[in-house]
Formats: sequence, C-alpha cells, structure tokens
Amino acid sequence: MMAGVVKDTCWSDNFDLKSMTRAAVVLLSGGLDSATTAAIARSEGFTLYTLSIDYGQRHRFELQTAERVAAALGAVEHRVVKIDLTQFAGSALTSSEAVPKGRGAEDMAAGIPVTYVPARNTVLLSLALGLAESCGVADIFLGVNAVDYSGYPDCRPAFVEAFEQLANLATKAGVEGTLKFKIHAPLIKMTKAEIIRRGMELGVDYSLTHSCYDPNPQGVSCGECDACRLRKAGFAEAGLTDPIQYQH
Ligand SMILES: [Zn+2]
Repeated sequence: MMAGVVKDTCWSDNFDLKSMTRAAVVLLSGGLDSATTAAIARSEGFTLYTLSIDYGQRHRFELQTAERVAAALGAVEHRVVKIDLTQFAGSALTSSEAVPKGRGAEDMAAGIPVTYVPARNTVLLSLALGLAESCGVADIFLGVNAVDYSGYPDCRPAFVEAFEQLANLATKAGVEGTLKFKIHAPLIKMTKAEIIRRGMELGVDYSLTHSCYDPNPQGVSCGECDACRLRKAGFAEAGLTDPIQYQH
C-alpha cells in the first residue's frame, strides 16, 4: 500500500498505517444483519471502521442504534454520512407510505416490496467505496442476505460481484493497483437462523439491534412488518429468544 493514499481527514488523525492493512469499512444500519456482519469482520481480524448513512429514513433512532452497535463491537471509529434519498420517490422507508404488515414468506418472495429504496445499496456501497479509497482500505463489508429475503435486487450475489468489479475499475487505487477492493457479504447465503446463531457465537448483543420498518414513536418494533416477521422467525428457528420488545 502506498503511504500517500492516507489523508489527514481520514477517520482520525492518529490513524495507524500499520493497523490499516487489516482495516475494514463496515456499513452499519443498526440492524441484526449488519451487526452480525461487523462481528464476523472483527472475528476475521479486521479493525472496524463503521459507516452509517443518514439517507432520510423515517425512523431517526436507527442511526443512534447503529452508533450503539458500533461502540459495542469495539469499532475504532463510527462515521455518519448524510445523503438525502427522500429525493428519490417511492419507498415506504423514506415516505409516509404504509409499510406492509402481516405478510407470509410467499408474499415476501413474490416481488420487490414498497420498502425498497431506489438503488439504495448501490448508493451506500459507493459511499463506502469512496471512504475506503480515501483511507487506503481495501475491504468493505456489507450485511446483505439473499436467502430469507430475495425481494431486493441489490441484495443478490450478482450485484455484490458486479460492484466489486466496478470498485476496481472505477477508482484510482483500483486501476493503479495500490488497492484491490473486496466487497465482503458474509451473510449472503445464510438463513436468518444461521445468521443469528453465528452472531450469538460471536457475542453480538442483539438487544442493541433494531430491524423494524415501522416502530412506534418510542422505538418499539411493530412485530408485523416483513423485517419483524423475518427476525422473529429467525430467532424461533434458531431456538433462541429475541431480546427486543414487540408491540405484537
Ligand atoms: Zn416491524
């Protein structure tokens, strides 16, 4: 790695070049999947630099949740980048459109749901890539999962592979060969129950995490949206107790 890649504005002033060789940028939403992904990155020996994107999500405490998860996982630094995806119309996660409730697995697999945020993971990964390149970090972790919920096109293996290719073609560090970017999606082929079991083994405190698309103003999960139902089913299948509260 070239020392010149590192800039003073990167993460922190005392960023250590030596430890950076094992640093990873981890996209953290505060949800169960990204928390587990960060724990897996840590277990593989990476130093964690977590990144949350404030994209205008309706539920602002998601960002506080991500910060707590980052602290619990021992992230060296947690950064929030703000970008306004409410400019893109059409998602129940960024507008007042109703979040679907009570859907079974078949309904969830039937099509791309209204909770889809246009091009979200492409946008998020692009921001992670920009930060990673500016910091001389080659490894980026993303908690996408294609097994229990394949409704989102940007959660599929083909997307992750394509983005990794793009990362190495689209950056100075990539084309000059100073960094070989790798997009890690360790959960992509795991079921929700497998993810939860793995996270428990790694000591993830799931009471800090949040999955619901439509919590009440106090932040209590609805229990009925797709994210809640998948999470509940995952804990049940894993034979474990979900430590968070639900309205239903
Ligand atoms: Zn919910």
